[in-house]
Amino acid sequence: MPTQDLMDKLVSLSKRRGYIFQSSEIYGGTGSVWDYGPLGVELKRNIKERWWASMVHRRDDIEGLDAAILMNPRVWEASGHVDGFTDPLIECTNCHRRFRADLPEVAEGQCPSCGKKDAFTEPRMFNLMFKTFMGPVEDSSATVYIRPETAQGIFVNFLNVQGSARQKVPFGIAQIGKAFRNEITPGNFIFRTREFEQAEMQFFVKPGEDDEWFARWMDVRMQWHKDLGIREEKLRFHKHGPDELAHYAKDAHDIEYEFPFGWKEFEGIHNRTDFDLARHQEYSGKRLEYIDAPTNERFIPYVIETSMGVDRTTLVVLADAYREEDVEGETRVLMALSPEIAPVKAAVFPLVKKDGMPELARKIQSDLRSAAINSFYDQSGAIGRRYRRQDEVGTPWCITVDGESLEKGTVTIRDRDTLEQVRISMDQIVTWIQEQLS
Ligand code: ATP
Repeated sequence: MPTQDLMDKLVSLSKRRGYIFQSSEIYGGTGSVWDYGPLGVELKRNIKERWWASMVHRRDDIEGLDAAILMNPRVWEASGHVDGFTDPLIECTNCHRRFRADLPEVAEGQCPSCGKKDAFTEPRMFNLMFKTFMGPVEDSSATVYIRPETAQGIFVNFLNVQGSARQKVPFGIAQIGKAFRNEITPGNFIFRTREFEQAEMQFFVKPGEDDEWFARWMDVRMQWHKDLGIREEKLRFHKHGPDELAHYAKDAHDIEYEFPFGWKEFEGIHNRTDFDLARHQEYSGKRLEYIDAPTNERFIPYVIETSMGVDRTTLVVLADAYREEDVEGETRVLMALSPEIAPVKAAVFPLVKKDGMPELARKIQSDLRSAAINSFYDQSGAIGRRYRRQDEVGTPWCITVDGESLEKGTVTIRDRDTLEQVRISMDQIVTWIQEQLS
C-alpha cells in the first residue's frame, strides 16, 4: 500500500469510527493537537494499563508516581532545558512558514510548503518549552514552564519515594503523564504533536552497574512491544551516535518502528548517568545521595531511563494492525489489535430483530457489562455488515444470538482473525472471554 495511503486511511478511519479527532475541529483545528474519541480513549488507556501492570504491579522493584505538570522553574534550569532544549529554526522568506533546519528538504534548500528554493533565513535556536505565568502578575519573575518531559518530576522526588516506599538501589520510579513541546514542525498525525503523553521509568542503580542494567532494560522493553503483537520485522534498535546523544546521556538506544513514513523512534532508552540528580543537588542545595546499607557508602545513583511515547505507541499499534484482505471478492478492512488492548472486546448481535433474540442479546451484554468487559450491541443491518463494522475497529469476538440460542441456550462466537466460529453455552461467555484475555 503506498505510504500516504495508509496514513490517510488511518486518519480517516480514526475520525469516522471514533478513535481520534482533530482538536477544536469546528474552529478549523489547532496546530497538531488531537483528541481521543470513545474507541481511542479505550485503546490508549489499555496501552497505559498494560505498561503500568508490567512496570509497577508485576515487579517489586518499581514504585509509581504522579508528579504535577507545573514545577519550580529552577528545575528546568538544573535539568539543562532552559539553556539547551532547543531546535534550530529557519523561516522561508517567501511564505513565512517556519521549519526545523534539520528537515531533509530544508537542508537541501527547498521550502516544504511553497517549494521556493534558497529563501531561508539563517537558523536561530528556538526553545521548545511552553511558558506561562503563575499567579496574577505577568512578569519574568512569575514565569513557569509546562513540563516538556515527565522525568524531572521523578528526579526531584527520588528521596521521597525511596524513603517512603523503603526501596533499596537498584529500584525504579514509573510515571505516566502529559508532556508539552512547542515543536517547530509537528506532523504525521499523532506522531509528533505539541501535547502528548509519556510513560517513563527511571531506574536508579549503583555507578558501575549501569551498563548491565541498560542492556537488561533494552531487552525488557523490546520484548514488551513484541508481546503486544507488533510485527518483529518492523521493530529495531537505533544506537545514538556521538552527535545525536542528548546532553545528559552516556548511551542511548531508540526503539524504532517502520512507520509508513519511515523508521522512527517511539521509545528511548537512555543512560542518564548521575547528571540529573547531581544537578538537582547542586541547584537545590539539598543532598540527593543514597546511603547503601550495610557499608554506609554514599553515592549519587546512575539512572537508566525508559521513555515511551504513549501517542506514538498508539500510532504504532494502529499502523501495525491495519490490514486489507480479499474475502470472496470483497475487501475486508481489519484492525488486528491484540485482544488485550482492543477497545471493545466483544460485540453482541441478535441474528434477526424478532423472536426474542434482541432480548437475549441484551441480557448477554448486561452480563458482559457486569464483568466490566467492554462490549457493543448492534442489531442494525445484515449480519455480514455488522461483522465487517467490528473487524474495522478491531473487536476480537462477535457473539451472535440465533434460533439455536432460543432452543438450546448456545451462541456462536466468531473470531475476527480466523473467521472461525465456535458454539458455546450462553452462561459460559464471560468465562470464555476472560480465559482468552488472561
Ligand atoms: P524526537 O527526536 O522524535 O523529537 P526525542 O528524542 O526528543 O524525540 P525523547 O525526549 O526521548 O524524544 O522522548 C521520549 C519519547 O516521547 C519519544 O520516543 C516519543 O515517543 C515521545 N515524544 C517525544 N516528543 C514527542 C512529540 N512531539 N509528540 C509525540 N510524542 C513525542
